[in-house]
Amino acid sequence: MSFVLREVRHLLVDLDGVLFVGTTALPGAADFIAWLRQRGIAFRLVTNNATLTPRGYVDKLRVMGIEVEEDEVFTSALATALYLRKQRGTQSAYVIGEEGLFEALRGASVMLESEHPDWVVVGLDRKLTYDKLATGALALQRGARFLGTNPDLSLPADAGLLPGAGAIQATLTATTGIRPTVIGKPEPLMLELAMSQLGGDLSNTAMLGDRLDTDIQGAKALGIPSILVLTGVSSRRDIEQSKATPTLVVEDLAELIEVWTEDGTR
Ligand SMILES: [Mg+2]
Repeated sequence: MSFVLREVRHLLVDLDGVLFVGTTALPGAADFIAWLRQRGIAFRLVTNNATLTPRGYVDKLRVMGIEVEEDEVFTSALATALYLRKQRGTQSAYVIGEEGLFEALRGASVMLESEHPDWVVVGLDRKLTYDKLATGALALQRGARFLGTNPDLSLPADAGLLPGAGAIQATLTATTGIRPTVIGKPEPLMLELAMSQLGGDLSNTAMLGDRLDTDIQGAKALGIPSILVLTGVSSRRDIEQSKATPTLVVEDLAELIEVWTEDGTR
């Protein structure tokens, strides 16, 4: 297990359950970011959430005492925009989503078009209407390609589970029979784009996350080692039932620094 850490020069870091829970920083989160910088390990904070902009995350983290730069944040919205830019013949998209997604697509010069778009792009939209679903369904039937920012079927809220981006995509799939290409975890596309933005490759990049079914599964799909931190959703007991096994398991970020430091000096 220890050889992995010594080789790692680039780290993909999940946010919720790793650096914070809800609006509270996890112990050692700010220290961990400082430690990565000091150690010269480049990182991207990767999140399936396509609703916030990088600036929104920087502000959210600053309130919790964690200082990061905008370009260190990589959302599924940015990954979606980057993916579209790499596809030949992409000029326009019909978009169901929120500001984070619209801003990212503007940045990639994707034009908004509802009648004959090249793509229908679907993320979480908390102002979803029947009209938007109908427009998306019709565009898909006219031949638009279907892209989803992230596959999350639900979002946890205080009162219970709320419909997520994947549930909106599923409505369009139920209507048209067409399935989306999906960018966010556990699909490997977002992680691959973040890794290549860092200049990393499969031999020197690792994923740090709290969920076996998204972070660890996504790392496995991409082919990079993964570190499970037990401060979020998944527990040690869940590992036996999981389709993907983390390369390393740590209780918290303090233990990760400890193990990593020991490994580096060996
Ligand atoms: Mg998480």
